[in-house]
Amino acid sequence: MRNIRRVLIANRGEIALRIARACRIVGVESVGIYSEADAGAAHLLVVDQSVCIGPAAPAQSYLDIERVIRAAILMGADAIHPGYGFLSENADFAAAVEQAGLVLIGPDAAVMRLMGDKIAAKKQMRRSGVPCLPGSDDGLPEDAQAMHAIADAIGYPLIIKAANGGGGRGMRVVHDSTGLEAAVVAAREEAGRAFGKRTVYAERYLQHPRHIEVQILADRLGNAVWLGMRDCSIQRRHQKLVEEAPPVGISPEAMYNVGERCVQACRDIGYVGAGTFEFLYEDGTFSFIEMNTRVQVEHPVTEMVTGMDIVREQILIAMGLPLSMTQADINLRGHAIECRITAEDPDTFRPMPGQVEKWHAPGGPGIRVDTQLYDGYTIPPQYDSLIAKIIAHGRDRTDAMERMRAALGEMMIEGVVTTAAFHRRLMDDPAFRKGAVSIHHLETSMKRDGRV
Ligand code: ADP
Repeated sequence: MRNIRRVLIANRGEIALRIARACRIVGVESVGIYSEADAGAAHLLVVDQSVCIGPAAPAQSYLDIERVIRAAILMGADAIHPGYGFLSENADFAAAVEQAGLVLIGPDAAVMRLMGDKIAAKKQMRRSGVPCLPGSDDGLPEDAQAMHAIADAIGYPLIIKAANGGGGRGMRVVHDSTGLEAAVVAAREEAGRAFGKRTVYAERYLQHPRHIEVQILADRLGNAVWLGMRDCSIQRRHQKLVEEAPPVGISPEAMYNVGERCVQACRDIGYVGAGTFEFLYEDGTFSFIEMNTRVQVEHPVTEMVTGMDIVREQILIAMGLPLSMTQADINLRGHAIECRITAEDPDTFRPMPGQVEKWHAPGGPGIRVDTQLYDGYTIPPQYDSLIAKIIAHGRDRTDAMERMRAALGEMMIEGVVTTAAFHRRLMDDPAFRKGAVSIHHLETSMKRDGRV
């Protein structure tokens, strides 16, 4: 048991609010941090105390490890919740938090480091029986002949990926052997620039996969559960825009097999906290691509169909308490869909920050809104443009879509342009309504409609 009385929330926006609410539910105090650009942030009204940690630039505020830890010590916090983005998957940060004698609400630094190295993570997953794509399973060699031999063994098309990558960068699809060397050089360059490490690996490229992921929770006592799966195939430039649970058209047995393997993998690596195993799903087969060692933007759809509070569990796990549920307690009810509303142009997705003159949140049965918006709120240009998550829960998928459609129609934001119009269109897209579209569906249909 570790005593946690006060949690510093090392984040901003809707997730900072979400964490502050969970702290209240658990009965621990919360400390909010904010940059000079976020002095008017809504989460500061829900936390017990708050402190400014620096200028608007993330590098000098939310991404500054030393400042965040100093703020936690200064404010008497005993734990830090990193949310998603910013420092949430930074193993150096996790190590620094541990060294400062504070509790990170997340996995240990060593486990975070392991899963942050995609080559090491994939090897570990293979050992635990989690299905993976055929691939090099080691960094690609510099020697051209050796590289070609590995590529030929995998087969074309293949994808070159950065071992320490993220955000869809450092990836190159290669269709035949003539393009291999140039693609490896380009991927190495990009990886070096973006992640400081030039190691790249290769794996088979899937042409029309869906993105399916498994939410897990694991405590310090060796208990681990999986909370069903989410389908996050509606993506643009590898960014998820809409997520739903459960995925349609995948048999419960197939899901059960993979879910149980993820749970086993958690036990094998000593994983503690909430986490997500991401898979590509094609022709009835799951293939692991990476693990996210944090809470995800799309966690609410899982909460809606399971009735669980994932952020509350994260805090209890960090205290050393057992999970509130066993696998037998996890029964999925109905269907949930989440639309990420961003302050972006609904056609080009160009960021459009500004001042929200008037905001009306939708409501009604099965509607949940996670947002930092209020009348008069100014969206700072320095950060991610996510401003609201609309989540609709219904008896079944059709019911959830109807509720989402009504909610998107009711929602009103004056003063800034948002992607609400994009989401309204999507709810009428016949292929989306049918379900089970691939990760390329959105970009393909946008090209077809001349909206690129
Ligand atoms: P990142 O950490 O940069 O997000 P991922 O490994 O999660 O990298 O891959 C990001 C996206 O790239 C996936 O969601 C998928 O769209 C695409 N992708 C990755 N690996 C493959 C693959 N083997 N075949 C097809 N698409 C892939």
